Amino acid sequence: QSIQAIKSLPANAHAPFDVESIKADFPILRERVNGRPLIWLDNAATTQKPKQVIDRLSYFYEHENSNIHRAAHELAARATDAYENARKKVQAFLNASSVNEIVFVRGSTEAINLVAQSWGDENLRAGDEIIISYLEHHANIVPWQQLAARKGLVLRVIPVDDDGQLLLDEYAKLLNPKTRLVSFTQVSNALGTVTPAKEIVAMGHAVGAKVLVDGAQAVSHMRVNVQELNCDWYVFSGHKVFGPTGIGVLYGKEALLNETQPWQGGGNMIKDVTFEKTVYQNSPARFEAGTGNIADAVGLGAAIDYVTKIGIDLINEYEHYLLVYATNLLKQIKGLRLIGTAAEKAGVLSFVLDGFKTEEVGAYLNKAGIAVRSGHHCAQPILRRFGVESTVRPSLAVYNTCADIDALVDALYKIRNKVY
Ligand code: PLP
Repeated sequence: QSIQAIKSLPANAHAPFDVESIKADFPILRERVNGRPLIWLDNAATTQKPKQVIDRLSYFYEHENSNIHRAAHELAARATDAYENARKKVQAFLNASSVNEIVFVRGSTEAINLVAQSWGDENLRAGDEIIISYLEHHANIVPWQQLAARKGLVLRVIPVDDDGQLLLDEYAKLLNPKTRLVSFTQVSNALGTVTPAKEIVAMGHAVGAKVLVDGAQAVSHMRVNVQELNCDWYVFSGHKVFGPTGIGVLYGKEALLNETQPWQGGGNMIKDVTFEKTVYQNSPARFEAGTGNIADAVGLGAAIDYVTKIGIDLINEYEHYLLVYATNLLKQIKGLRLIGTAAEKAGVLSFVLDGFKTEEVGAYLNKAGIAVRSGHHCAQPILRRFGVESTVRPSLAVYNTCADIDALVDALYKIRNKVY
């Protein structure tokens, strides 16, 4: 397809909603950078926040702020209600069977460390095996390496093919009765690959392993149903789904959470304390020691409302259209090598441009007001699998448009032709 043919598609004609009005909800998208309107294509790193989330945070601090659970006064009741309502919103968002399965944490990284340091330390023994995949973010590698070093475990890795898709037959060969845990990403942050999560979970369960799914890059792009996935744990970060930083979620099956020893000790997570002994609460309080990130949990609830109102399936459909549009245009640029060409992808494009350092490309795009990530994306092993240390990574969200992609592509032609 020629560039003209691709571009002559009516911009956003395929959008199943009014993208311009969605964009207008995000005040930061009216910023100018280097004299140009900001084009935010660094959504895999973090998403921008709609006014609805920003306003909800202000409302909390203006009308509801209190510590939760512990006081008899009105504001404690308001704050507790707001916080627990946010938990219900997360429950519905993930289709968890109970609110008790939703633990608020700082983010995906903390959630994975929590599982490694509570369930992992308690249940795994020397010689046990853990399987992760080549696609993992460092947050889903390092905690398991640290656990493996502490406990004498074996860490195995599912390889990928040249398109960046997990090789399930190789995974099948890695599984054995010593496999106690499988932990993998639903969407790769470096390549955008969508993994066959349900199948990977089922294969892990078939040998008796527990399975954790890293949903950090999935939740803003696709419907997630933890009961259908049947995973034991699911983690995500609020800031990657239009919510605040510093708040995230650990989903875990209720019985499993309740039979796992708490991670941190302190206030909130206890039923009774004497100097001899402490009796712990059940989940979620069991894993929420101390004063948590109350306002930001409430903000995450507002972000989930925002996504739900647009409709996650429509977002998925629209972003898929944008991804195909962008992929077709990028493929026309001579010297540009796309990395990650899986049949099923979400949200992420990753490439290198012959003769240019990725930092140079990122810096030039910044001059044009376009924010992308250039670097290793905290996923060094998968980039090295493709023979590179770094890529340029534009990543998409619901507020991006074909015009944003056009601006990116035009800027890339200018870089390649050295006309900047
Ligand atoms: N997992 C994946 C796939 C990610 O993309 C990220 C962040 O980029 C993380 C985990 C870690 O998320 P956080 O830094 O919010 O804890």
